[in-house]
Amino acid sequence: MRNRGKTEEERIVRTNREEEAYRDSVPALLFWYDYNARILPWREDPTPYHVWISEIMLQQTRVEAVRAYYERFLAELPDVRAVAEASEDRLVKLWEGLGYYSRVRNIAKAARVLCEKYDDRLPADYMLLRDLPGIGDYTAGAIASIAFGIPVPAVDGNVLRVFARVTGYREDIRSDRFKKHVAEQLRTAILKYAEENKEDVSGECSGGDAGRGGPASGAARISSAPGRFNQAIMDVGATVCIPNGKPHCDKCPLSHLCAAFSEGLTAEIPAKKAEKARPVEKRTVLLLCSGERVLLRRRPAKGLLAGMWEFPGISGHATYAGAKQAAAAILAETAERADPGDTAGDGTAGSPLSRTELRAKRLPDSRHVFSHAEWDMRGYRIDIPGKAAERIARASEKNAETAATGSAEYLWASAREIREEHGVASAFRVYREYLPKEQK
Ligand code: SF4
Repeated sequence: MRNRGKTEEERIVRTNREEEAYRDSVPALLFWYDYNARILPWREDPTPYHVWISEIMLQQTRVEAVRAYYERFLAELPDVRAVAEASEDRLVKLWEGLGYYSRVRNIAKAARVLCEKYDDRLPADYMLLRDLPGIGDYTAGAIASIAFGIPVPAVDGNVLRVFARVTGYREDIRSDRFKKHVAEQLRTAILKYAEENKEDVSGECSGGDAGRGGPASGAARISSAPGRFNQAIMDVGATVCIPNGKPHCDKCPLSHLCAAFSEGLTAEIPAKKAEKARPVEKRTVLLLCSGERVLLRRRPAKGLLAGMWEFPGISGHATYAGAKQAAAAILAETAERADPGDTAGDGTAGSPLSRTELRAKRLPDSRHVFSHAEWDMRGYRIDIPGKAAERIARASEKNAETAATGSAEYLWASAREIREEHGVASAFRVYREYLPKEQK
């Protein structure tokens, strides 16, 4: 009995300590942020649209990689209406290299909803934001707090890691249970801070002073605490309590609250789970070249690189003969789609083209790592001989018109068109070096 009593007492002490740590983290992080916030382009004018686009870009992508994409995207599509009216090919092109293309498709879907239902604006309501395509708990929390000053948390992997260390949590931080627990604790802590500092949190925010560095003052400070708090955790997670390597506890605003630091457990927390090995898929990539043009194929609407243009190919590592045979089959398929009456079956809508006439050259191997899979690619450039190439060049004009409607599954495109108009997945980056040179 005495033991049970002692365990219960310990549990209560632990819970109290934990609640204190969450509560005291709010003023500590706000103070630190005033002097240490990262200067980032999307923090200069944190409108709901700017916060939304930047947060979606930052998912699975490093801050440094996002800067240039963000500025280019905003320069071309300055508001919600511009996104809703942009073509899918244009959006994918602007996103090319960032990966996870479903993100930009969801931005377009959400922009159309915003134009239809919310007068081209993002709603100042966490639950309504949460209902938009591509916006989950974290992004809704980030937009609501940073752009509207609503006191809600934005919990991502960085936040989970920081608070697992602060509270000494030794189990799997990716579990829904822990995520929910951290979100609840942070929500309570932010609200408590709001109650106790009424002059600091009004709930009506225009984006405030977030991220400019240096102590904030006056009216701007009044409405920006929830957003500054969430951005402070993001910055601590990215620059101080880092995911890989030793955390910089000597520079951390939370070190006086941190259980992992005081108990020497920073290397053990968060608990590491054995990573599952990614399946490796062997593929053969074919650069089918006809004069100045190369054949592109649109990937299926669902799955990996959904809807992106790719250089066509087949599963497995093909030999020279296998690559030429696959190329002839693909050409026959393009002919069948472009002109169902093409009896040549060689993609040239005319006299037969034997696969032995195709010239194949081996290109370097390449690997591309996705989050849940890996491609081990073998490449060939396949050149289509003279007359057949001329017929393809003529057919490609017609082909370009169908591509513009978004219905084409194959497209003959020049290197310039690929560079400027058609987003080819970055998994094929190595093979772009071998595109046919354009005549000046
Ligand atoms: S004291 Fe160290 S381990 Fe604890 S939150 Fe700060 S950086 Fe992370």
